[in-house]
Amino acid sequence: MFTFFIITFGCQMNKSDSERIAGLLISLGGVEAGGPDKSDLVLLNTCSVRKSAEDRIFGQIHNLKQLKNTRPDLIIGITGCLPGRDKDGALRRQFSNVDLFFPITDLPKLADKLIDLGLIKAGAQNSAINYWEIIPRFRNTYQAMVPIQFGCNNFCAYCIVPFARGRETNRPMADILCEVRDLASRGFLEIQLLGQVVNNYQAPDAKNFSFADLLLKINQIEGINRIQFVSVDPQYIDDEMIEALALPKIMNYLHLAVQSGSNEILKKMNRKYTVGKFLKIAEKIRKIRPDIALGTDIIVGFPGETENDFQKTVELYKSADFDIAYLAQYSPRPGTAAAHWADDVPHLEKERRWRVLQNLMEEIVLRKNQKYVGQTVEVLVERCVDANKNIYVGNSREYKLVEFESGVDVIGKIVKVRINKAEMWRLTGINDCGIK
Ligand code: SF4
Repeated sequence: MFTFFIITFGCQMNKSDSERIAGLLISLGGVEAGGPDKSDLVLLNTCSVRKSAEDRIFGQIHNLKQLKNTRPDLIIGITGCLPGRDKDGALRRQFSNVDLFFPITDLPKLADKLIDLGLIKAGAQNSAINYWEIIPRFRNTYQAMVPIQFGCNNFCAYCIVPFARGRETNRPMADILCEVRDLASRGFLEIQLLGQVVNNYQAPDAKNFSFADLLLKINQIEGINRIQFVSVDPQYIDDEMIEALALPKIMNYLHLAVQSGSNEILKKMNRKYTVGKFLKIAEKIRKIRPDIALGTDIIVGFPGETENDFQKTVELYKSADFDIAYLAQYSPRPGTAAAHWADDVPHLEKERRWRVLQNLMEEIVLRKNQKYVGQTVEVLVERCVDANKNIYVGNSREYKLVEFESGVDVIGKIVKVRINKAEMWRLTGINDCGIK
């Protein structure tokens, strides 16, 4: 028996990887500890998408070094996108006192590494031979992240993912459906399908079986109530997929990363769509789902972005009428195409452009949230935030955070809440119809 603690950075894909890491360590006799100081093994599942993400990891490693000085037997490991992008070993050399340093694609080999370090005995190996076969330890019993794809072939000029996670590999649809049926039989209500470009999914085990076909199949599985998925690339959205968005179990939220409102910048980013095509897609989606909530990702300050380019992004934001956006200031990532270009937008100017869009987004979020006042929404309850006042929170089908009072424990349940107040990041209401 050994104790372990996983520190996760970054995206949903990393969170799902950490569920698989935990599942594997538990199958090897590990017990999850409450913190690094109570652990024999501390694993950092790292993110490399921005310099700021890596800076946080270096900070965390520094703290763990201190702990290891007092506990030399502590095993520290790094996995995720940082080792994934370390093609020449330069990063590995920076972490000389780290015991484990491996890309997530090597997860099935973790048992052998722990045997070499003396943490587990030979023979304790898990039988899983590939990443997909590792049974995840989900974070709760009603929501499950189900990866359908690994890596990416798109090589957007700013993105480290194809270098850190490798080329696109699609999971057999039979495996995915088998896992989702099993989850439904165990009472899971919400499935989040994960991949870098899920709408480019093509089943390796069924000819011409697309992402829309997968949604159709999962929509037929009894017990599943909500289906959502990330990440979606606008260039692969076709009419078949837009029609699939009408399926009843598909969440009323779609995250559609646009990145910029300037065709010149989209071209430089190697994003394969135009602003015109993007707006056409948004229009078609709203025909199928008029009250869908659309989210997006935008990078400001990309090399060569002029004030005029930026104003086009502001205009696009208004025309597309997004519900929410994850805004990032461009930072060069080693190994990407853009890293070879002059990072010519000054830092203060990046901050100004970020602030302009952030203010616009907040203004629009508040206006859009007002429309929910007086409406009843369905909420999958995730946690209790105030046990004294019986206050619970969860997400509506539009992925809006909803807070409400309930006299009974409704965690893991889908309840109807009538909204009586709307703020920027929260809707508040009353659960007046009991449990759905
Ligand atoms: S589609 Fe582009 S941004 Fe998304 S993971 Fe692939 S390379 Fe990165």
